[in-house]
Amino acid sequence: MFKVNDNYQKLPGSYLFSTIARKVSEYQAAHPDKTLIRLGIGDVTQPLAPAIIEALHSAVDEMGNAATFRGYAPDLGYEFLRNAIAENDYKARGCDIGADEIFVSDGAKSDSGNIQEIFSVDNRIAVCDPVYPVYVDSNVMAGRTGTYDPVSEVWSDVIYMPCTKENGFVPEFPKETPDMIYLCLPNNPTGTTLTKAQLQEWVDYANRVGAVIIYDGAYEAYISEDDVAHTIYECEGARTCAIELKSFSKNAGFTGVRLGYTVVPKELKCGDVSLHAMWARRHGTKFNGAPYIVQRAGEAVYSETGKAQLKQQIAYYMKNASAIRNGLTETGFEVFGGVNAPYIWLKTPGQMTSWEFFDYLLDAAHVVGTPGSGFGPSGEGYFRLTAFGTCENTLAALERIRQL
Ligand SMILES: *Cc1c(COP(=O)(O)O)cnc(C)c1O
Repeated sequence: MFKVNDNYQKLPGSYLFSTIARKVSEYQAAHPDKTLIRLGIGDVTQPLAPAIIEALHSAVDEMGNAATFRGYAPDLGYEFLRNAIAENDYKARGCDIGADEIFVSDGAKSDSGNIQEIFSVDNRIAVCDPVYPVYVDSNVMAGRTGTYDPVSEVWSDVIYMPCTKENGFVPEFPKETPDMIYLCLPNNPTGTTLTKAQLQEWVDYANRVGAVIIYDGAYEAYISEDDVAHTIYECEGARTCAIELKSFSKNAGFTGVRLGYTVVPKELKCGDVSLHAMWARRHGTKFNGAPYIVQRAGEAVYSETGKAQLKQQIAYYMKNASAIRNGLTETGFEVFGGVNAPYIWLKTPGQMTSWEFFDYLLDAAHVVGTPGSGFGPSGEGYFRLTAFGTCENTLAALERIRQL
């Protein structure tokens, strides 16, 4: 008789976004005349930029011609893309990352879920609380998190680093020493980030205690302040302690196209075991490459026209972000984030829980957001709105909230 991976049975019930979807569809069924505005899920709404569409079209044509057809891509990804990444995302920022340290993938969600498998199950992980759920759940599936307490909503073997307004959303070094530290900066869900100096302290800490930092930079393109690092490799010593995950989803609207990459520096070692070699082996064995046409689309992200068009797209979303920030502040809400990230993290009014505020906003304003408690216990009493809506919808939602 076969057995299943029991770790999956430990995962707590309904996933945040399925609960939201159910509540929203129940509400819509009961109130068919109400028009909902969705500022909940972190998905983009603007179409792909013309430079990207052009690159896709021409790559499709190449695939239909025997002379230019391509089959399997090279394991690490096409060199034209890895070179563009190394040049633009690293060399241009003075960071010493080579094209051969970049692994092209189908996105940062799979990489952030998969990366844990090259590490021992005995490792202790540390996560910020609130947290992007993939980091925890992928470690649950691997059997690295101990047991779940449904009352406190914490795992016995996970080190939580609360990020709240009290500490300015800056995680503090934990009392217990972690082996793997997940950092997402700028942060989903709080929309806040660390200064470069604060990030440097984390790099120094990781090198000191022998921990690895898994650094998710999915929202890097939204950074607007000068003292914020665009990559962890801007910090001294990061080559010996950090893996960086990047995505084309939020900077270029590739959520449905699928492209990302992971950087594993060659100096990152456990004794004399190279993590680069391990990830290369894993990638080569379990992944057969992102599509050629998509890698060409990724290359176009770094073309001069592509960059200019995407800058406008980011500016569009960030205009929404500041409209939400300012509008809510004027209405009397306490808000965070929205300066270096497309997320606004607000304190729920009075003593409302995150879910009470969700229901209230849905019922009274017909606006859908995301309850902060869904991202971890320290998210209780907070609520996330995204700037990824259209400008019209964002302003309409604000007007409705103003009238509450
Ligand atoms: C959106 C997002 C990603 C991107 O995932 P893809 O699989 O590349 O679409 C990664 N990390 C975080 C924290 C995100 O919010």
